[in-house]
Parts: sequence; C-alpha cells; structure tokens
Amino acid sequence: MPETIFTKILRGEIPCHRIYEDEHVLAFLDINPISRGHTLVIPREPAETLDQLSAESAAAIGRVLPRIARAVLEVTGAKDFNILQNNGAAAHQAVFHVHFHIIPMHADGTGLGIEWRPGKLADGAELASSIAGKL
Ligand code: 5GP
Repeated sequence: MPETIFTKILRGEIPCHRIYEDEHVLAFLDINPISRGHTLVIPREPAETLDQLSAESAAAIGRVLPRIARAVLEVTGAKDFNILQNNGAAAHQAVFHVHFHIIPMHADGTGLGIEWRPGKLADGAELASSIAGKL
C-alpha cells in the first residue's frame, strides 16, 4: 500500500493532536473538523480499506471506539454522534489508510449531514444467502 499522510502521523513525522494510542490503534483530532471533537481512529496496520484490515486490528479498534466516543462526548457536551467510515474514492474516502470518524452532533446543528436515499428490498432472501455463502 502506498504511504499516506496517516503513515507519517503514525511515525510522528507530521504532528497531530493525539488522544489515544496503543499497540494497534491511534486516535487524534481531525485537522478540518466537521464539528467540535471530530476525531479519527486509525489502525497502525497499513490497510487502504476496511475489507483489507486484519481481524486483529479491527478488533482492537472495536474495543476502544466506544471508550474514545464516550470521552469525546463528555468533553464536548454532545449527546449524539456519528461513526463514519469511508472506503474508496466514490464513497468519499480521501486518505487511503483505514480510519473511523467520530463526529459529534451538537445542539447548534454542527455535525454530519447525511443524504439518505432509501430504496425497496426486492431480492432479500437471495441476496442474504449469497452474501452469507461468502462468509
Ligand atoms: P476521508 O474523507 O478519507 O474519510 O477523511 C479523511 C479525513 O482526514 C478528513 O476529515 C481530513 O480532514 C483528515 N485529514 C487529512 N489530512 C490530515 C492531517 O494531516 N491531519 C489530521 N489530523 N487530519 C487530516
């Protein structure tokens, strides 16, 4: 995988406001926050997208994500928040190193705006069994 800005942040070559780190995970403030407290949680493992991430790194992120979110909420006073995780340019990924956004939703309306375009599930049984068959 080509190096990204997050590789340099992980190595300490580019500064960031660090919030949490352990053997597998680093969390730091987003440089262009959508809302106050906008935090990025990344694996140390170099993987471009979530589907390429090892179970070990994924588990390590999953273990700390709720704890980091609680701290962000407590400090910013937000009650609601989104976890955003983009994969691929068409899905709005700009930095090709897996990352989870924690984005608080504040009373003043700052937070993640989502355009949600629900459709109808037509072939659920077939689709579910096809996906299940790949696991
Ligand atoms: P994506 O669109 O890939 O899901 O989000 C990438 C995020 O990384 C953006 O929210 C952007 O502001 C953040 N970001 C990009 N470069 C830097 C940087 O050098 N430092 C920090 N702290 N955040 C960055």
